[in-house]
Amino acid sequence: MTLIADLITLHRADLQVRALRSRVDSARAVLNSREAKQTQAESRRQELQALARQLQATMMNMEVESKAVGERIEALRTELNSSSNTKQYNALLTELKALQAKRDEIDERTLAQMERVEAGKNDCAGADETLTRAKAGCAESRTELAQRTSDVGERLTELERERRAAASHVAEDLLKTFETIAQEHDGETLAEIATVSAKHREYACTACNMLLPPALVVRAATDEKTIVQCPNCRRIVYFAEATQASA
Ligand SMILES: [Zn+2]
Repeated sequence: MTLIADLITLHRADLQVRALRSRVDSARAVLNSREAKQTQAESRRQELQALARQLQATMMNMEVESKAVGERIEALRTELNSSSNTKQYNALLTELKALQAKRDEIDERTLAQMERVEAGKNDCAGADETLTRAKAGCAESRTELAQRTSDVGERLTELERERRAAASHVAEDLLKTFETIAQEHDGETLAEIATVSAKHREYACTACNMLLPPALVVRAATDEKTIVQCPNCRRIVYFAEATQASA
């Protein structure tokens, strides 16, 4: 096989390895982002639960306060019934009215607090749901990742072997160049040379459309021992017909 034919074999194996790896990588990226969402949902739920406990505690304090005032009112009523003079009676009555007003005010606050407690419970339930959904999403992603890893595993090992075999036909320095270009262009290392105008001897790189200098075109057409790179995009360029003829 010619050098370019070896490179084409390497290129195909390399592209397939990249495609398979990217299937696994993208599943892993989805899982990572879902795990982050789950962590977020967990801490949100903790926050809301703490808030709900606080609201509940405040409401219970109000109830205790209301009960204490209620007891004081009862005691005052008893005192009032047994009061012997008008002055004492009026003083007790004034205190009683003040306490009743206070109890009304506490009860009003308690009612408002009850609504807050209810809203807090609803928020907690919502956070529970969000967390449940987040956990389900993570579980789904984990299954997907495991599935893809196992789907790809055997084929990837096979392709990596093919890739190594193809690479073994290519000189080391050239392999380095190949890998650098592959890295830069996400595996699109090679590009065919297109004939723009045979009459005017105009040929272009099909990847970036740059017209290639005539000297490079001649070398690509005649020299099977070296590679030719597009001066613009650095990809290895070749004549498809030449490889078909010699393959
Ligand atoms: Zn190019």
